[in-house]
Amino acid sequence: MDVLAGAGRGTAATSDVPVATEGLGLHQALIELHARHLGNRRGAVADYIPQLATVDPDPFGLAIATATGKLHTVGDAEVPFTIQSVSKAYTYCIAIEMIGREAMLQRVGVEPSGDAFNAIVFHPRTNRPFNPMVNAGAIAIAAILYEQAGDAAFELVLDRLSQAAGRRLGFDEAVYRSELETGHRNRAIGHLLRNCGAIDGPVDAILDIYFRQCSIQVTATDLAWMGATLAHVGEHPVTGRQVFGLAAVRDTLAVMFTCGMYDYSGSWAFDVGIPAKSGVGGGIVGVVNRQLGIGCFSPRLDAQGNSVRGIAAFEDLASDFGLHAFECTNQGSLFVTTVL
Ligand code: GLN
Repeated sequence: MDVLAGAGRGTAATSDVPVATEGLGLHQALIELHARHLGNRRGAVADYIPQLATVDPDPFGLAIATATGKLHTVGDAEVPFTIQSVSKAYTYCIAIEMIGREAMLQRVGVEPSGDAFNAIVFHPRTNRPFNPMVNAGAIAIAAILYEQAGDAAFELVLDRLSQAAGRRLGFDEAVYRSELETGHRNRAIGHLLRNCGAIDGPVDAILDIYFRQCSIQVTATDLAWMGATLAHVGEHPVTGRQVFGLAAVRDTLAVMFTCGMYDYSGSWAFDVGIPAKSGVGGGIVGVVNRQLGIGCFSPRLDAQGNSVRGIAAFEDLASDFGLHAFECTNQGSLFVTTVL
């Protein structure tokens, strides 16, 4: 089911499904926030995946979806891009439901690594990936998906992510092919995981799931709904479909909070205070628990591989609206229940 209406560049739009007129305050604030950062052209698009180097660096879209089913968007919120590492949060959620929490902890840890997302480093004591948000962890998660679903694993992932977004998501064949042909570092990680017993099974088939999941196409609006589904304890706020179980959502949000922004995760938790996941396609999904999903898209990245405008936009959102998880005045809840 499609739950959204389109938004043109530089304009703000709301969903034609459930729009609240009392949300106009937020809407205006979003327009201003977007305008504040539109001129920021710092950073560079990812080019280590050749196809990603060809994307337009300029789009900037922002979308907020509420747990009550309302949507606010501004700018290029309907421009498609590849989800990349944002998918890791969702495949973790799917896999933990499949094998359970205890078995998962034996396979993939929950400690921030402090290293780059593509670092070839494993936990010194357990020899397992530090967490599911870095490539090594996500490839181990893809191995679990392969064990559980075999050749149907990617279709299952696409289906669940589509349910979380509330519409059938697309797939970028060119980015997939590009990563398949050049992803030697990820292939090395896969073989090392196999060598140290962290994964079992055919490395190529496992990496194929991983490369495919990274090539799923989303928009900032999709990310907002996908965040809102997590915020709404696994149920899509508009379709009413229970996409993920409560326990898996809790575990996923916890790992997003501590590990979702690679080696910027500590600063992000400190400054922004919202469980989030970024991807080198320029997307960031954020979750204000029980309240909001936030999606942002801007392809220019900083040195850690996080969207430059995305970080700036989230910092402003968190401070302007009191959305930090530990905001003592708890303006976030007040804002959502009274303004939206
Ligand atoms: N597909 C990308 C990779 O494996 C995902 C990385 C990312 O988004 N940080 O390199």
